[in-house]
Amino acid sequence: MINKKLKYLILFVTVSLITTLLAGCGETKLEQADMEDFVLGTFGSMRVFASSTKKGEAAMEKAFERINEVENKMSTSIEGSFIQQINQLAGKEAVEVDDDTLFVIKEALNYEDVTQGTFNIGLGSLIDLWGIGKEWQKVPTPEEITEVLKHIDINELEIDGNNVFLGDKNMMLDLGGIAKGYAVDEAVKTLKENGIESGFVNLGGDIYAIGAKPDDTPWIIGIQNPVIGSKTVMAKIPVVNQSVVSSGDYERYFIEDDVHYHHILDPETGYPTDNQLSSVTVISEKAIDGDVLSTAVFVMGLEKGLLFLEELENIEGVMITKDKQVFATSGIVDKLEIMDNSYQLVR
Ligand code: AMP
Ligand code: MG
Repeated sequence: MINKKLKYLILFVTVSLITTLLAGCGETKLEQADMEDFVLGTFGSMRVFASSTKKGEAAMEKAFERINEVENKMSTSIEGSFIQQINQLAGKEAVEVDDDTLFVIKEALNYEDVTQGTFNIGLGSLIDLWGIGKEWQKVPTPEEITEVLKHIDINELEIDGNNVFLGDKNMMLDLGGIAKGYAVDEAVKTLKENGIESGFVNLGGDIYAIGAKPDDTPWIIGIQNPVIGSKTVMAKIPVVNQSVVSSGDYERYFIEDDVHYHHILDPETGYPTDNQLSSVTVISEKAIDGDVLSTAVFVMGLEKGLLFLEELENIEGVMITKDKQVFATSGIVDKLEIMDNSYQLVR
């Protein structure tokens, strides 16, 4: 009798133990979900790990919605965006913008100072004159460039509360070097608010890796080979909860009379930045910082840019020259793995 009772007890304990173990497994087993969309003029993709594919997809849908929201507020070409309104009312009236737009404009203003003017959202008229990537792209005359350079002074941008005013009627704002980074950060925030602890957001090469991979190893992010036309990866870096953002002369450009004109403009000359660099990658905690800094450091050039990055806290960078030399800041150089043998790590 006692024996039988004991047998039942053992059976009961075993069954409940197995049930508990199974339930435990169910909780930690994560499903992968992927989503793609064309946003902010580029190819966007996300991957998340969630308790179910459905939950993961719902989170990504919300994140893409948030990106669209940012684009509708900050694009120069979207009818009625805050930035378009500011540009249309330049020299006339202030525009009351929302907190998102105000935040990005203020960040940009601060960075204009930090980067000694190499990053300037007041370049709108110059960017429009070149039209790189647009139907009207062309090499402007030197006279046109001289004229437009008179209208890029960021001091003409006045902010009063949420009211933004451009004092110079010939000036325009362009958030093309910062809005994508902000959109990535906001997409990541949305995913995290929806329970995602592992995944990534990639907006045309502006990448953020959320957490680590489900197996607890870091995400491995590739750095694109900056040689024009090449779609390969030339190096990789492990990251956890960080963004990896690249700027390069291979991204958007046109060729006229065998000369390559790209989209990162030097505010001093009014021409596409012409130095020994072909790309700059910045690793940081926020994609907005990486977006701005990769563009700014590209304009600064190798020596100045490397010193500048080295002095910033929690920011690392990888710079690639046209002759395939690779320079990395001290915090990342040991983690960087070159995969393409035609590149040489100098430091
Ligand atoms: P990115 O792709 O992040 O390097 O940013 C390039 C985009 O930023 C261009 O397409 C322009 O819209 C804008 N841009 C170009 N040159 C500059 C600059 N020197 N400062 C700020 N924005 C710039
Ligand atoms: Mg940028």
